[in-house]
This record gives sequence, C-alpha cells and structure tokens, in this order.
Amino acid sequence: MHTAGLAARAAHTALDLLYPERCAGCHAFGTSLCARCEARLVPLGREGRCPFCAAKWDGLNHCDRCYQLHHIERIDAAFEMDGLARQLVHGLKYRRIRSLAAPMARHLEPFAAAHARAVWFAVPLHRSRLRDRGFNQSELLLEALGLASPAGSGLRRERKTEKQVGRRARERHANVAGAFSYRGEPLDGHDAVLIDDVVTTGATVAECANVLRDFGARRVWVVCFARKSYDQERHTDPIHD
Ligand SMILES: [Zn+2]
Ligand SMILES: [Zn+2]
Repeated sequence: MHTAGLAARAAHTALDLLYPERCAGCHAFGTSLCARCEARLVPLGREGRCPFCAAKWDGLNHCDRCYQLHHIERIDAAFEMDGLARQLVHGLKYRRIRSLAAPMARHLEPFAAAHARAVWFAVPLHRSRLRDRGFNQSELLLEALGLASPAGSGLRRERKTEKQVGRRARERHANVAGAFSYRGEPLDGHDAVLIDDVVTTGATVAECANVLRDFGARRVWVVCFARKSYDQERHTDPIHD
C-alpha cells in the first residue's frame, strides 16, 4: 500500500475513534443505519404517483411536470424524500457519512437489475463542489451497486450552477441549461441510466439526459434514492430542499 493510502486509513481510524458510527435514524452506536430503522423505510408504491416521474400525483396519466422531462424514459425512485429517507440523503451528502452509501444502494438493487445492460452515469458535481465535499454522493451510490461508467467516460458539470434549492421548476431548468458535457466513447444506441441521490424537479437529470442523447444514447432512464414530490396545488416547489 502507498504511504498516502496508509495515512488516509490512519486518519479514518482516528476519526472513527473520535466519532464512532451512529445510526442516522435512532443514533444508536455501531452502524450508520441499524436494522430496526432500515425496516421503517417505506418503499415507494405506484398508487397515487405519476407513472412516469414517480412524483405524488392523483390525476389521470402523467403529472403536470412531465412535459419538461422529454428525453427521459422514466424516473425510478426507492423512497419519497421525507422522514428517514430524507435523513439518509442528508447524512450522506451534508454530514458526509460515506458508510451510508452501501445501505442506501441496497434499495436501488432492483433498479440496477432491471437495467443490467445499460451504461450507467452518476449525475456529476462541479469540481469546486466536489472539492468541498470530497466525494460525489451519486458516484458513491453507483460504486456501492458494484457499477461503474465505462473507463474514461462520464458526464461533467462545466458550469457552476446556482444552488437549485428554493427555485421554481422553470428557473431550475434555465439554471442548468448547457451546464453539462460528456467525455468518452459515443454511446451508439446503448441505453443509459443516470443515478442521483435525490430528484426534485428533474431539471438536472433532464439536462444530463439531453447530453447523453446528443452522444447517441438510445433511451435514458433515471434511478434515484429519493423523489421529492411537488405541491400539485401550487405548481411550485417547496421552498426547502
Ligand atoms: Zn437506528
Ligand atoms: Zn410526472
């Protein structure tokens, strides 16, 4: 092992001693997510949901938002973005508890199996945000699933977009337009899957899908851990993410 690797491992061990692992749900010591809390997670049903984007929807057919998501075949989500699922998303992304990626990814395995032949891509972070956080949470989910993008290929976030939190759907689409690029082999008719920890309006994944389609992806699917539904009455996003 390289010295840098040893140093990193030593640092991790020191951190583990200072901050022993605690369950993101009940704060019990010993694991990032205990079995009892994990059992409380309620998988997203199809009832009362848009069949296309998985947002809460009690109308007929597609919800009002889906017209903005052309170039996406469907959004599959494991959970609604609330309760414990929300705590897990925040734990991984903001509290940087990397060990949550594995238990979170377990709930994405059925989707991974359904898209076994597709090429997978993580929704990228801008390099400055990547530097601040130290990792891309979507990439960690992808790795935890035992998947990877083809060597040397991937999406990049070229432009540092303003935070999407608190923006309305239309503003979010404008905010990310042209923000992504693709590097790698042409996708020549392959199906592609985008993975993200949470999908809110879908503006980011829709823009990534446009780019993958430009590079030859036949169909683009989206898989996410949590789906943040919108308020059907107000037709706007909730203020807090
Ligand atoms: Zn627990
Ligand atoms: Zn929809």
